[in-house]
Amino acid sequence: MRSLDDLRASLVSTRGGAVDDSIPQLAEADPELFGAALAHPDGEVVASGDARHPVSIQSAVKPFLFALALADTDGEALDRVGIEPTGEAFDSIKLESDTGRPPNPMVNAGALLTANLVSGDSGEARTRRILAGLSAFAGTDLDYDREISECEQLHGDRNHALAHLMRSEGTLDETADEAVAVYARACSVMVDAAALAVMGATLAFGGRNPVTGERVVSAAVARDVVSVMATCGVYDGSGRWMRSVGVPAKSSVSGAIVLSAPNRLGAAVISPPLDELGTSVRGEALSRALSEEHGLHAFGYRGSSTGASSPRSTTSATASTL
Ligand code: GLN
Repeated sequence: MRSLDDLRASLVSTRGGAVDDSIPQLAEADPELFGAALAHPDGEVVASGDARHPVSIQSAVKPFLFALALADTDGEALDRVGIEPTGEAFDSIKLESDTGRPPNPMVNAGALLTANLVSGDSGEARTRRILAGLSAFAGTDLDYDREISECEQLHGDRNHALAHLMRSEGTLDETADEAVAVYARACSVMVDAAALAVMGATLAFGGRNPVTGERVVSAAVARDVVSVMATCGVYDGSGRWMRSVGVPAKSSVSGAIVLSAPNRLGAAVISPPLDELGTSVRGEALSRALSEEHGLHAFGYRGSSTGASSPRSTTSATASTL
């Protein structure tokens, strides 16, 4: 089996995509940064390249906000946010027409809401809960970057628009400004590929962190979250991703991708240049290589392609029993 170092090295020369420029800190990212990590069921973390270089987590935080909202509301979050793919960009100004709910927790509207469904009677308290929850998923203390979060709030006009829209629909209880602030801080949490891989692994192993042994969320919550990652995690590229990589994942504008292969492993790749759908170009290429190398595709056939189960013998067996 090829090692993570080998797979990563084979893709270092992959070009294409552009670094996000929605805020100065993202625009200044080094396009050559390329880190990856795997987290295994026994807690072993395999790191490669710039795996210890932190970036803002951005939208890769969304599965974990959904998990914390589900845990803190005892599942009520499932009534407050849809779970259907949108086929649209992550920041599209769209709610479900009949309910006023966000379409799913992996787009901005949904994550603005789930960030504010976690426990806490103020924006600061919810931020503390989110930081503690994310740290438990990662098995290490995480914090957010104040400057990035300020910029996210200053430049996040579409997020303000979405929050006002949800407030006017009665979907969001908090004020729009407070809701955007909590969400912006969550997007500004600094993680490296090693920590993000452990976060993905905690979801992959039923909500228990394989490094610390801590139960972070229930197995039912983890399953719900990974299911929605599979259908909505790569926005309007989710179908393409599921076919070619076949592992539930969440992309982000910092170029971080978190992957959760249930019962198998958690993984993360960070490489800033993005394609037109906001997915890291090298991140997707390495995810596909990892999936192939480790046989992770959720719908991949793992049996022998010859012998008793071939279509021909199945047909004749069926025919003879008729
Ligand atoms: N900071 C981004 C936003 O909410 C996160 C989006 C993303 O990573 N796709 O606008």
